[in-house]
Amino acid sequence: MKTEIFGLPVEQLQTLLADLGMQRYRAAQVYDWLYRKGVFDFAQMTNISKAEREKLAAAFSVLPRDIEVLRQLDSADGLTHKLLLRLTDGNTIETVLMHHDYGYSVCVSSQAGCDMHCAFCASGLHGAARNLTRAEIAAQVYFFNARLFPAGERVSRVVVMGSGEPMLNFDNVFGALQFLHRPDTADMSYRNMTVSTCGIVPGIERMTRLGLPVSLAVSLHAVKPELRTELMPVNKAYPFLDVLRAAENYAVASGRQVTYEYILLSGKNDSDTDARLLVEYMRHKHAVVNLIPVNPVPEKGFFRPSQQRINHFLRMLEKGHVPATVRREMGKDINAACGQLRADYVRQEDPTCL
Ligand code: SAH
Repeated sequence: MKTEIFGLPVEQLQTLLADLGMQRYRAAQVYDWLYRKGVFDFAQMTNISKAEREKLAAAFSVLPRDIEVLRQLDSADGLTHKLLLRLTDGNTIETVLMHHDYGYSVCVSSQAGCDMHCAFCASGLHGAARNLTRAEIAAQVYFFNARLFPAGERVSRVVVMGSGEPMLNFDNVFGALQFLHRPDTADMSYRNMTVSTCGIVPGIERMTRLGLPVSLAVSLHAVKPELRTELMPVNKAYPFLDVLRAAENYAVASGRQVTYEYILLSGKNDSDTDARLLVEYMRHKHAVVNLIPVNPVPEKGFFRPSQQRINHFLRMLEKGHVPATVRREMGKDINAACGQLRADYVRQEDPTCL
């Protein structure tokens, strides 16, 4: 049984290398290959002797090498790349690289599948979620880093907005973010990291106590209680007024503006009354609203409003002095909404399961 090396703290690696009879400084060299150069094959670690490279290869597995790319979809504009990855236990996850004018960002999954059952989302369609490990979360960033490093580029932002509910996998998600923050790994600033939650109040409170300057995004999507419960069953356990309170506490404690995601669903949550209520709830908060025209799920009756309606909704928020943006859509041509690629894949493997 090999030990997984990817994601090990450097101190632990030093101990394991010492057990193999290797010098302590080798750990820093291995770290450099893995995390600064994106080289996952011990044979290519040329400043280490051949005999020691062979020892390493016999003792350790390297997760990014054992994860298989099942599919890669590239958007026509070349700015978005989406991978469907097969984990070592056969579970599949999606991860997306986006090239913005400010650099590269990666949207990572925190769980394989999801148990939240939001009505408009494809992530939870196929059974219960499994928490991803710290290494599996960090490896999603390194898949792309390994491709970008040779060109002198790297991923500078990470958003935990792929499938899964990050607050239900708190230790591994924040463990992965802390790992990616290290100067000897991805050297990523906490300010360039965003965690998006459907509104798990104890998770938001824990994030406040943790005190890292990570951005918080909250999936709000509706401000009429019955409608929010219909769209997001989690609203029964954590009503959105409690979520707003916890998120505002985070904003005050961290000094960071919270982003509220609001999917626009034609005829469901896009009326003038919805806009007015949203203004009421957002007023005087450290908040920005991100309007997301839904990726349509026609089987479930979810359609995107007309451009005119979207603009009107946005203008109502602006008139109410609520900072708001409409999400710039990237990769629409490659099905970039959460879970859609995975759902298509699972459906093809087992056509009876939808
Ligand atoms: N569980 C977390 C993070 C994953 S979802 C959360 O709920 O925030 C990331 C975002 O994509 C959420 O705001 C989610 O509601 C949204 N989303 C899900 N399905 C979508 C769809 N069909 N169209 C547009 N956005 C969608």
